[in-house]
Amino acid sequence: MGARGGGTGRVYFRDVRVPAANLIGQEHGAYEVFNQMMIPERMTSAAGALGLARAALEIAARYSDRRKAFGQKIREFEGVNFKVAESLTRLDAARALVRETARIIDSIGNSNYVRRMVSESKKFATETAWAVVNDAMQIMGGIGYTNVYPIERLLRDARLMTIWTGTNEIMNLVIQHEYFRELLAQPLSARDVEADAPNTDVDGEKVYE
Ligand SMILES: Cc1cc2nc3c(=O)[nH]c(=O)nc-3n(C[C@H](O)[C@H](O)[C@H](O)COP(=O)(O)OP(=O)(O)OC[C@H]3O[C@@H](n4cnc5c(N)ncnc54)[C@H](O)[C@@H]3O)c2cc1C
Repeated sequence: MGARGGGTGRVYFRDVRVPAANLIGQEHGAYEVFNQMMIPERMTSAAGALGLARAALEIAARYSDRRKAFGQKIREFEGVNFKVAESLTRLDAARALVRETARIIDSIGNSNYVRRMVSESKKFATETAWAVVNDAMQIMGGIGYTNVYPIERLLRDARLMTIWTGTNEIMNLVIQHEYFRELLAQPLSARDVEADAPNTDVDGEKVYE
């Protein structure tokens, strides 16, 4: 459907013998290699999604300044210019998350926290790209669906980004897993915010099992 610049094939490994000299890391150490590799792999998806979304938004915004309907530029219709505003906001939020994640990777390297942030970035940036390119196509109407503009290609490529390098459902799996691991390993934070409720002392009402 998309990503046509790269071929896709299935690779089979059956009874493969690997010389010890060719081992990457320790024998049975693939988990560590995988976790390390998924940092650049998923950050590439995240950062690529930002670039894709930025391009789609720019094309659609410029188009909306030229295309006229009902005697005015379509960017003067709220139905169009609010989509531009929403897309910009989403894109800036995604860019901030991806940059912050990159900063954390540079400063602390591989860790459970990095795993969570990388997964959040991959998920949020690719979902943002999908939403932004979809709105870009809507702004451009029928011509956006044709191949006169590259929006239809960006839309096909964006769809894949939510699936490859680990689906976004798998990103959710990682995010909540790492969060609970971090949260439940710590005692209640310095100030017990649960105690802020007016009826905080009604212990019997608090948790039903
Ligand atoms: C064009 C293209 C290029 C690719 N390039 C590469 C590449 O270069 N290298 C590489 O390694 N891979 C590559 N892939 C594979 C890609 O990473 C996988 O397709 C992707 O990780 C999803 O795995 P799957 O297809 O086996 O889906 P499945 O694992 O079968 O998932 C199917 C559905 O079930 C859901 N699901 C599965 N398990 C769970 C769970 N535990 N909890 C909740 N939901 C779940 C998924 O989210 C998804 O919605 C490529 C794929 C495509 C289409």
